[in-house]
Amino acid sequence: TKWVLTFGGGKAEGSAAMRDLLGGKGANLAEMAAIGLPVPPGFTITTEVCTHFYANGRSYPAELEQQVAKGLEHIEAITGRKFGDAENPLLVSVRSGSRASMPGMMDTILNLGLNDRTVEAIAAGADNRRFAYDSYRRFIQMYGDVVLGVDHYVFEEILEALKEEKGVTEDTELDAEDLVALVASYKAKVEEELGEPFPQDPKAQLWGAIGAVFSSWMNARAITYRKLNHIPEDWGTAVNVQAMVFGNMGETSATGVAFTRDPSTGANRLYGEFLVNAQGEDVVAGIRTPQPITEAAREEGKVDAPSLEARMPEVFAEFRETARKLEAHYRDMQDLEFTVENGKLWMLQARSGKRATKAAIKIAVDFVKEGVITKEEAVARIEPASLDQLLHPTIDPKAERKIIATGLPASPGAAQGEIVFSSEAAEEVAGRLDEDKKRKAVILVRAETSPEDISGMHVSAGILTTRGGMTSHAAVVARGMGKPCVSGAGSLRIDEKAGTLTVGGKVFRAGDVITIDGSTGQVIDGAVAMIEPELSGDFATLIGWADEIRRMKIRANAETPDDARAALNFGAEGIGLARTEHMFFDEARIVAVREMILADDEAGRRKALAKLLPFQKADFRDLFEIMKGLPVTIRLLDPPLHEFLPHSDEDIAEVAAAMGADSEKLRGRAQELAEFNPMLGFRGCRLAIAFPEIAEMQARAIFEAAVEAERTTGEAVTCEVMVPLVVGRPDFDFVKARIDAMAKAVEEETGAKIKYQVGTMIELPRAALRAGDIAETAEFFSFGTNDLTQTGLGVSRDDAAPFLGHYVQKKLLPFDPFVTIDREGVGELVEIAAERGRAVRPKIKLGICGEHGGDPASIEFCEAVGLDYVSCSPFRVPIARLAAAQATL
Ligand code: PEP
Ligand code: MG
Repeated sequence: TKWVLTFGGGKAEGSAAMRDLLGGKGANLAEMAAIGLPVPPGFTITTEVCTHFYANGRSYPAELEQQVAKGLEHIEAITGRKFGDAENPLLVSVRSGSRASMPGMMDTILNLGLNDRTVEAIAAGADNRRFAYDSYRRFIQMYGDVVLGVDHYVFEEILEALKEEKGVTEDTELDAEDLVALVASYKAKVEEELGEPFPQDPKAQLWGAIGAVFSSWMNARAITYRKLNHIPEDWGTAVNVQAMVFGNMGETSATGVAFTRDPSTGANRLYGEFLVNAQGEDVVAGIRTPQPITEAAREEGKVDAPSLEARMPEVFAEFRETARKLEAHYRDMQDLEFTVENGKLWMLQARSGKRATKAAIKIAVDFVKEGVITKEEAVARIEPASLDQLLHPTIDPKAERKIIATGLPASPGAAQGEIVFSSEAAEEVAGRLDEDKKRKAVILVRAETSPEDISGMHVSAGILTTRGGMTSHAAVVARGMGKPCVSGAGSLRIDEKAGTLTVGGKVFRAGDVITIDGSTGQVIDGAVAMIEPELSGDFATLIGWADEIRRMKIRANAETPDDARAALNFGAEGIGLARTEHMFFDEARIVAVREMILADDEAGRRKALAKLLPFQKADFRDLFEIMKGLPVTIRLLDPPLHEFLPHSDEDIAEVAAAMGADSEKLRGRAQELAEFNPMLGFRGCRLAIAFPEIAEMQARAIFEAAVEAERTTGEAVTCEVMVPLVVGRPDFDFVKARIDAMAKAVEEETGAKIKYQVGTMIELPRAALRAGDIAETAEFFSFGTNDLTQTGLGVSRDDAAPFLGHYVQKKLLPFDPFVTIDREGVGELVEIAAERGRAVRPKIKLGICGEHGGDPASIEFCEAVGLDYVSCSPFRVPIARLAAAQATL
């Protein structure tokens, strides 16, 4: 087996494609060497050795020793130096490097090969004595700490004592002879601690270092980092042994890091920093302030210290050319590390650079324009969820955040404003002007929200709840409105009576300003600097390419004119779900809705329905007019009944007055209707089954609105009427018959011909299984995956927060099934329903309108099942457009 692969001297045995075997660092060093870039020669011990190491009681394969010796010979041949030589010694670095980047988690050793003899050879040049002993003392400390287990503070104490004795404060003020003495003290200390002298044999040093790097794969830091970043333990690390080059050899040496393009804006210009006379660690550690690489950046940043371009023009020219070559070679923006040793440039690392979403989009679009990548590649490179960052105002990443609590990231974007504890207060305060004559921003803070809070939510900049999950009322409604929301921030205590919000001993009152970040779930004390979204330019270009590529249509869940317009603005191709119950939350209607629910006979109900009809009709006409012929799916009333029942004496009295009924009788009726398990109770079409006149009123409103909208716009309305929560064909047919009859009636009354479809939601396991039957009469299915998840897993949508997290943490479920569709279970129900539905009605239109419709991983599943469209909240439409395109690639 080949356990060791060499690189350097214009050649390499490995390549960038061998990342799994060589780790990221080793693979890219090999690639750079192979394309002729100046890389210090070296070799990589593969990740398979790491696997062997742990599978065999921390021992190595038999051939390794000989292969490492050969690797050293390779370095010696290229550098003309010899490991351990008294005249011209080779020094090496020993570094870890796994498949995934694990910055700083594992061990590194520099300057290896120094001992009492070789240090003298390095020191031979008169200028080099200080440098040689400085390297030696650093090596003893690093090796002592990492390999021999002598704590680094032991060395630091000795160093501090010496500085005190010499009356200096900086390491750099120690001269060569001080460092010679320091080395002697370090060695004595090691011998005292270990009972053995510091190892002088470079080969022994090398094997010690290799063992330490492999062992560091299992140190506590690395284990934690892997857990947090989902990096498998069995990947293992590679070990890179490479000739040392020195950026700290004086004024013609330097070290630096750079990006080939600006990582925060994406601008096509070299962007980086360097330090003269320093080692790589010094740049990262931030001990000295690094200088800009280019003159342009120096001028822009008004930095006094000279740029690399001005200070070492030839090195800079070569570096710029190298950066250009690497970017063209990898066809991506690169993150580079380099060192200049006595005026000679050496490349130490190249990898794809991390970048902000905005930069990622600009870079991808520019690469297509430059002919470097295809449109498909550009579309594939952008993480759809990352678009969220661009669609809402966000917290300035540079701003400092005083986080007081963390809840669920229920609706993205950031918002700040004064705390209000009720919707009435929200409306009152948000109506006022502040000192700058701008409307005041408020954050509505509630234990949870209810339908009555809709108008309060509407005027608030953001919503914060202490209870409820990702599909709680607050979360769903906030996402629909495109408002930032943090839900279920359980560590906050609201005392509504006292008007206080308490967390960790600090008390906030109404009027105090907080900021919420709905993208992270953070709740922050005070106002934080924000940045505004921008949807034109490169963003529009990239999304346009996604539209050319994708197969599925993208619709939006929207019921208000504002939402419908926002959806169109974001590129929605129709409305996939208009939740009509949301139209009833309005204060002006809620009384009539309650009248309807609490009426004790049909006549009473019809009276209330007559009041609602004109409202509904106007709602639907607005939607049809705004959507101009695009499909609009209107779902019949699907209330969790409890959301509409009046609770307070005041509310009951109000309804009683409107109905001319007795308050006490009404209270009794409301109590009768209270349910133990509302989410499995009087919901969906069950209402239309019990009281068909409700469905009839809605159907009439829909059809009359369609006729009117066609007259006003001159455009044919594409109207889809959807029945929620059916369990099979009989209940679907029962409701459909009422709808069809009403269509006929309206046609007769108006003389117009109405084109419409009637379909159903598939949101119960039984409906999924009976899909073949249902498709006999249903013209389309829309998968209501919120309820299908709730009923498929038997997990209440509103009560999941306290336990579902444990499932995910303990890896019993791969992710929250309310966020990403559970392919194995709920997904199979969707597949079964699609298959059985198509068997009966081959062209049946299939869509999804649960929250999963805006989740990229779930969208990939929808493409695989061949759904016709996904429907999501308006603000997720661009994300869905991109994800749907990626799903086809
Ligand atoms: C669903 O259940 O997935 C759905 C879209 O309906 P709702 O969220 O209104 O119950
Ligand atoms: Mg539902």
